[in-house]
Amino acid sequence: MLDYIKEPIQELMSQAPVLSQIISTLIIYTIAKTVHSNIELHTSHLVKKHKRIKLPPKIKESIKTVDEEKLAQKAMSDSVIEFYNVIKENLSPEELAILNKNIDTLKIKESPISKISTKFKEMGFDLTTLVKTIKGGHYNCLTNSVTIDETSIKISIFHELMHMASSVKTPEGIYSGFSQKIFTDEIGSGINEGYTQLLTERLFPDSVQSEFVVYPFEIVAAKLVEELIGEEKMRHLYFGANLQGLVQELSQFASVEEVKMFIANMDTINKHLYFRNPLVLEEKLFVQNAMYGVNEFLMKAHQKRIDSIEGLTEEQKIEMLEEVKNKIRNNKVYEHWKFKPFNEQSTEKKIQ
Ligand SMILES: [Zn+2]
Repeated sequence: MLDYIKEPIQELMSQAPVLSQIISTLIIYTIAKTVHSNIELHTSHLVKKHKRIKLPPKIKESIKTVDEEKLAQKAMSDSVIEFYNVIKENLSPEELAILNKNIDTLKIKESPISKISTKFKEMGFDLTTLVKTIKGGHYNCLTNSVTIDETSIKISIFHELMHMASSVKTPEGIYSGFSQKIFTDEIGSGINEGYTQLLTERLFPDSVQSEFVVYPFEIVAAKLVEELIGEEKMRHLYFGANLQGLVQELSQFASVEEVKMFIANMDTINKHLYFRNPLVLEEKLFVQNAMYGVNEFLMKAHQKRIDSIEGLTEEQKIEMLEEVKNKIRNNKVYEHWKFKPFNEQSTEKKIQ
């Protein structure tokens, strides 16, 4: 059924990639909604939301130094102090502005979830799937608090503190790294989680217990975005909670609409991929379509980057683009979740 529906869409693909991506996502979304009305599919593909990407508030750099004695009084203080010391070494004073604003009043709590699940197990109820979903940590920007499940402190705490160091609230909503939640519209959580975890693994390699634990799809996409705009610029935008700036930077390599569609597709994947395994069929179609969108965007943007480098031979250009393709393809998420990185049918058609 899907092939039949997607056929005319692929025709459009070569002429208007964004339009066709929107139409095919909407068709899959509509089918999915009709087939399975009780599945809540993420709706960030409704790109109208992305018209509202806003500039974050400017946080003034402060010269005050953080009181390390105060940090020592917080729960899990060893991790908080380690985080502060590492981050201080790696960020510019301007990039430290949000952290300096938040860290004094930061609260850290242990989540009771693993204890509750053990209790339920004793009573004969298996909450493993549920616990897997909510296990880990959470940063609440409104209350400036991190909640951590005690069994995943080592993996999660630095990731959550990274959110603390990049989140600002304003009367209209929250700006957090590359995501924004203005009223009820949440945008950018996919790219935000990928980059948050990328930075966490880079700055705190000991927190990585095994690959494949935290946002494996998003981390590869975030790394490829970083390779487009540069490490320093990406870090600067993230710690300024500046999604608008990221869109602007990426618009050197694609149209603004294509960049927003990429962000929307990342959100779709982030909202669906980890929720249940296996995914129900309609979610799987939705996520697969979003993966095609993300990877096609990354390939196209890198092609543009490579083309702009002077002095390369055609062979060198092809080789560089192939390297990008391999970075996408070698991600184990495809094998693990039975997805495909590229829509081979659509690529073959384009070549013909
Ligand atoms: Zn996170």
